[in-house]
Amino acid sequence: MLKTLFTSHKRGFLSLATRTRSGTWRSGFQTIAETWRSGFQVDRSQQNTKQQAGQLNGSPLGSMVSSLVGPREPAPPPQPVMGFFTDTSLCIGCKACEVACKQWNQLPAKEPFWTGSSYDNTGHLSAIAWRHVQFIEEIGQTRPALPLIDIQAAKSNGTIPMTPPGTALPFFNTDRWLMRSDVCKHCAHAPCHEACPTGAIIRTEFDTVYVQQDICNGCGYCVVACPFGVIARDEQETHTARKCTLCYDRMKDGLEPACAKSCPTDSIQYGEVEELKQHARERLGLLHERGLNEARLYGVDDNILDGGLHAFFLLLDEPEVYNLPSNPPRPSNNVVPASLWSIAAALLLSLFGFLFLKK
Ligand code: SF4
Ligand code: SF4
Ligand code: SF4
Repeated sequence: MLKTLFTSHKRGFLSLATRTRSGTWRSGFQTIAETWRSGFQVDRSQQNTKQQAGQLNGSPLGSMVSSLVGPREPAPPPQPVMGFFTDTSLCIGCKACEVACKQWNQLPAKEPFWTGSSYDNTGHLSAIAWRHVQFIEEIGQTRPALPLIDIQAAKSNGTIPMTPPGTALPFFNTDRWLMRSDVCKHCAHAPCHEACPTGAIIRTEFDTVYVQQDICNGCGYCVVACPFGVIARDEQETHTARKCTLCYDRMKDGLEPACAKSCPTDSIQYGEVEELKQHARERLGLLHERGLNEARLYGVDDNILDGGLHAFFLLLDEPEVYNLPSNPPRPSNNVVPASLWSIAAALLLSLFGFLFLKK
C-alpha cells in the first residue's frame, strides 16, 4: 500500500518541475490529483488497484490524500478487452481509415509532398498521423516461393470473387503491392506505459493504452520505449506525446472506432480481442487452404512483448517486409540485469579503491 502511494506521489512530484503545454505551471498536488483520479484508478495492468484504493480509503494516508484532492470518482465498470484485427490481405490502400482518423480526432494535415519512391506520401505514423496505410511496392521482383495463380481457373472455381479486385493478394509472381494500415498496437504489456514517469499513460477500462494530454510533460521516454515507432511528440503544437486512442471517446458511447467504421473492405475489424483472435486464426486457415502459405499472424500469441498485441495483423509475408520487428525487446526486461551489472561495477570499483588507498 505504502509503495503504491509513494509511487503515485513520486509520479506527481516528478511533474512539479515541468510546465504544461498550455503554458501554465501545475502544482504537484494538481498533478497528483489527476493521476489519482484517472490514471491510477483505471490502470488495469495493476489488477489489484481497486483493492489498494479501498485500503487507502480507510487509512490515515488515504484520508490525507482524500482531504487534499477531494472525493475520488468511482472507477468505470469493467469492460471486455477491445482491439483491432487488421487483415492486410483485404486492404486496397484507399486510405479512408487515415482520413477518418484525422477527421474524427481533428488532427491537422501536413503539406503534401511527393517522396518519389512510393505512392505513400504519409510516410510513417506521427503525432498527427495516428493511422498510416503502408505501401510496400515490390515491382519486378521474382519470388519463387509465391504461388502462381491460374486466374481463369480461379475465376471458374470461385476463388477470385471471394476477394475484392485490387487486393494485395499476389496473383502474379513478379509485381505485388502489399498494403497495411498501421496503428498503435495497444500492447498487452506496453513499453510506453511502463516507461512513462508521470502516469500520463494509462490503461483504460477496455485495456487500451491512452495518453492523458493534461498530464503528459513531453519528456519523450515513451517515444524511445515503443519498439514499433508509434508514439511521437507533437513538436508543433502541444509538445506532448500523442498516438491512437482507439477512439476512447467513441468506445465509451458504444461506437466503433472511426477508422474501422470507414474501412470499405473490413480490413480493419474492431471487437473483443479474444473473438477477433479466433476469427484471425480461421482466416489464416482459409488463406493457407488457398495456397498462400506465407500468410501469418503477427501479435496474436503471447510471444511478442510477453503478452501479445491488442491490435494485431494478418500479414502476407515476414514481419520485416512490413517494417515490423519479429521479436521486439521489452525494455523493462533490461532493468534487473542492468541493475545487477551496475551493482557489480560499483562493487568492483570500490574494491579497487580500497586496495589503492590501502597502499
Ligand atoms: S505500440 Fe507503442 S505506443 Fe502503442 S501501446 Fe505499444 S508501446 Fe505503446
Ligand atoms: S481507433 Fe480512432 S484514434 Fe485510433 S487510428 Fe482509428 S480512428 Fe484513429
Ligand atoms: S485498411 Fe481499409 S480503409 Fe484503410 S486503406 Fe485499407 S481498405 Fe482502405
